[in-house]
Amino acid sequence: MTISEALGRIRATIQGAEEEAGRSAGSVTLIAVSKTFPEADVRAAIAAGQLIFGENRVQEAAAKFSSVKADFPSLELHLIGPLQSNKAHEAVALFDVIHSVDRDKIAAALAKEMQVQGRFPKLFVQVNTGEEPQKAGIAPRETVDFVKRCREVHGLTIDGLMCIPPAGDPPAPHFALLDELARRAGVVHRSMGMSSDYETAIGQGATYVRVGSAIFGHRDYGAA
Ligand SMILES: *Cc1c(COP(=O)(O)O)cnc(C)c1O
Repeated sequence: MTISEALGRIRATIQGAEEEAGRSAGSVTLIAVSKTFPEADVRAAIAAGQLIFGENRVQEAAAKFSSVKADFPSLELHLIGPLQSNKAHEAVALFDVIHSVDRDKIAAALAKEMQVQGRFPKLFVQVNTGEEPQKAGIAPRETVDFVKRCREVHGLTIDGLMCIPPAGDPPAPHFALLDELARRAGVVHRSMGMSSDYETAIGQGATYVRVGSAIFGHRDYGAA
């Protein structure tokens, strides 16, 4: 299957899942996750009408997207991987949406950079719904307070929450938890669902789905 064919199928599946969930057409936005894949694959996806991309690493995204962004100014780039505060400068300069705000240190670093640069990416808070020790994200019980602190202490606008359910867990309860926390925190966007579970996520209220391998194929981390 080509990238264009895969995108066509996924768009149709998203549309079907929106209908099934009784949600309006276009309420879910597809982020094409291009991590480990080359610029040529990104350009193939753009040729098929995809202008929203997700990357995990600041450096990889900067190298891959600098000329693509110059060619396609309306392209939207999302940071979906963990962020270190010493990368806040580059992240604010490069990304349009950052999904991985998860502690005060990052919130403060982003707030400072946004003031300095006069560039204001949308910010989502990552929630560690499975409370996995090795995974980024704030604990569910701390989420509502953290969003409040982002707003009141750091002066940030928080537009959404993001989660990555534990591998091997049924994802639906994690998506339901994220939806509930988003409601309580008063944020609009739910960034949830990947290649294997984005239909489920749409049923639970996802507004952004992050799909990589179903578009670009199997990822070879060894070669990346
Ligand atoms: C890699 C990644 C994705 C995409 O995963 P696929 O299973 O390839 O669709 C989505 N979200 C995050 C945070 C990722 O790191």
